[in-house]
Amino acid sequence: MRGIEWQEDKWHEECGVFGIFSHKEDVALNTYWGLYALQHRGQESAGIAASDGKNMHIKKGMGLVAEVFKDGVGGLEGNIAIGHVRYSTTGASMAYNVQPLKVYYDGGNLSLAHNGNLTNAVQIRTELAKDGVVFQTTIDSEVVLSLIARSRNKNLEDRVAEAADKIEGAFAILIMNDHKLIAFRDPYGFRPLCLGKMDNGWVVASETCALDLVGAKYVRDVKPGEMIVIEDEKTEPKSIMYSTKNPKKTAHCVFEYVYFARPDSIMDGESIYEARVNMGRQLARETKNIKADIVISVPDSGTPAAIGYGLEAGIPFMEGLTKNKYIGRTFIQPTQKQRLNAVRLKLNANKALVAGKSVVMVDDSIVRGTTSGKIVQLLKDSGAKEVHVCISSPPVTDPCYYGIDTSVRKELIASTKTVEEIREYIKADSLHYISMEGLRKSLTHLDPDGMCYACFNANYPDDAETAVRQGTKFLFDAEA
Ligand code: SF4
Repeated sequence: MRGIEWQEDKWHEECGVFGIFSHKEDVALNTYWGLYALQHRGQESAGIAASDGKNMHIKKGMGLVAEVFKDGVGGLEGNIAIGHVRYSTTGASMAYNVQPLKVYYDGGNLSLAHNGNLTNAVQIRTELAKDGVVFQTTIDSEVVLSLIARSRNKNLEDRVAEAADKIEGAFAILIMNDHKLIAFRDPYGFRPLCLGKMDNGWVVASETCALDLVGAKYVRDVKPGEMIVIEDEKTEPKSIMYSTKNPKKTAHCVFEYVYFARPDSIMDGESIYEARVNMGRQLARETKNIKADIVISVPDSGTPAAIGYGLEAGIPFMEGLTKNKYIGRTFIQPTQKQRLNAVRLKLNANKALVAGKSVVMVDDSIVRGTTSGKIVQLLKDSGAKEVHVCISSPPVTDPCYYGIDTSVRKELIASTKTVEEIREYIKADSLHYISMEGLRKSLTHLDPDGMCYACFNANYPDDAETAVRQGTKFLFDAEA
């Protein structure tokens, strides 16, 4: 039985992390729920490590959180836990690459969970390997454990600070030994990480939606270049600004606000949902000449922007496309006669709604351009008179080196085609992308100058692109 692949035309976030310190809560169960809330950040594997102060146990595997922990979290008792969900970007999607990673060092057990991508991991790994260090995985994150274990500093936070200052790229990392939970973020703040408080403990997570699920109160975001150390549930975590390479500006990933993050999360002070609604409003202001009967979204990620578009343009927002929420990635191959369009398995047009109408279809991004044309066709086949495609991000023209699932420029449709050529390709009546200025304006709390927009304009905040081109830095992919 062969399967056909459903490949959504979206970039995927690499990972989500969750950590908890508490002597009163069930740390493993809370981590399980936290990972549940972060499932959108990675669906290929999941894992939890927990320590009771002496022993550190770990359970992890391939699949969704519910699949990996179908028999529960028994055996993971303790007072500190970290968890991870993964969508592989560096290193193959194999069981040996599933996080958290665990090693034994001279201070006892040590475990790590990482969201992001280390751009100098290959150099560090090569140097360590020359020194006789062996590795058990093909992922970039493992070098961090080696650096910590080899540090001559005595306490864990000094060792972690030393390691954190050596790595480059995008990272939100959780480290635990049998006594401490440490969370740190790269100096640019590419990837998100927030701190929450429970009645009897502390929680750190990629997104606030995970804090909400476990009943933790949002305290603040971990600052770029900051490390927080939690070793007691009552006292405030210790804050250490570990980085000696502080950039002039932060570079929070703007794509988190466009697509990656869950809409109910608040990230670095900005509501994801509000930002998306603002993007839709802005898009409507930029496309005033479109005369449409209804606004629809490509569900679910395009919905907040479509609502914003409808509100601003005074055109009713309606659910013109219905998503099958229960679909997996692979399906049984249809016969030639069935000529099944894989998009139709995932989405169906509401004929009664779209027939005879001029439709504005809002989506958050077009990456490879593999599905937009099929959705336009679906709407036309259902009788839509006109389909105007409005995208709430600028054209994706450049690769991401900071923890996203592609780094190949030629795969990006906007890197080789003009907007008009893309419109022709997807057979839309018109195609509009939000302007870069419009995207910047949609952020109401964050400083727009403190964001990364590199996949839209190739202005990489660090030297990742130049170094990759010159061959002095390589993307970590030992499997390639
Ligand atoms: S290049 Fe794009 S996806 Fe990558 S961190 Fe920057 S804004 Fe985010």
